[in-house]
Amino acid sequence: MRILVAIAALLVINTAFGLGNTVGYHRLLTHRAFACPRPIFVLLTLLGAMHGGSPMVWVGVHRLHHTKSDGPGDPHSTREGFLHAHCGWLLGGTNNPLLCIPFALSGFGQQGALLVHDIRRVLGKNPPVWVELCPDLVKDPLMRALDTPFVMPALFALQVALALLVAGPWGLVGLWAVHVLVTNGSWAVNSVAHWRAFGVENFENGDDSRDVWWLAALTWGEGWHNAHHRYPRSARHGLKGGFDASWLVIRGMERVGLAWDLWLPKAYRANSRPTA
Ligand SMILES: [Zn+2]
Ligand SMILES: [Zn+2]
Repeated sequence: MRILVAIAALLVINTAFGLGNTVGYHRLLTHRAFACPRPIFVLLTLLGAMHGGSPMVWVGVHRLHHTKSDGPGDPHSTREGFLHAHCGWLLGGTNNPLLCIPFALSGFGQQGALLVHDIRRVLGKNPPVWVELCPDLVKDPLMRALDTPFVMPALFALQVALALLVAGPWGLVGLWAVHVLVTNGSWAVNSVAHWRAFGVENFENGDDSRDVWWLAALTWGEGWHNAHHRYPRSARHGLKGGFDASWLVIRGMERVGLAWDLWLPKAYRANSRPTA
């Protein structure tokens, strides 16, 4: 019985953290695909911050990716290698499997990278260039607070403490599993969904983005990445009817008054009802 409760808890935390990334950091903060009440905005941001680092850094990097997709200046182009796009770019830019694979499986590796980022920042070696890429967020005191050095490592330390308090060493194992799943899910959108061996190209964007149905199923709809590069602001990524869990969540929020101004491309507005 206890194992079932533990599995259910892991699924709930994994879903909450995942939606913090897809609905929160990506569709709300980066692309302004919809609007919502302040408490929901704060909640989604905090859920994303549990694993994704400072929202302003995440948004800045992702906006740069859209501007430079698969060209010079793209922070994580697959043209520099699959593993470079997956997580090697977080390790200073490498495609070495001996570095990238252990980092991807470490679960907490990204938290280590965030700590190094903050240490370099206070030493003056990491000027906050990302701020220029998110002038809309820099006005928000919550965003500035979360961008303060060592706030992200403190949030992670809090998660570790809570996990140990609630379930002892097994709590830590559960937290590791959640971080492995959510970080690799987010990174796979950069690697798998920009790799020509996978999925299909439904839209000619001039980049390598792909629509990958099985990745969309694993990443709350983010695998419809070719459609997303065609219409970055769209609240729905599964524009051709593919299963897009994040869109269903946003649509559900709209139904109960927790989201409004959902943006959709003109050609897809008439048949924008969820199909799943
Ligand atoms: Zn992309
Ligand atoms: Zn995007």
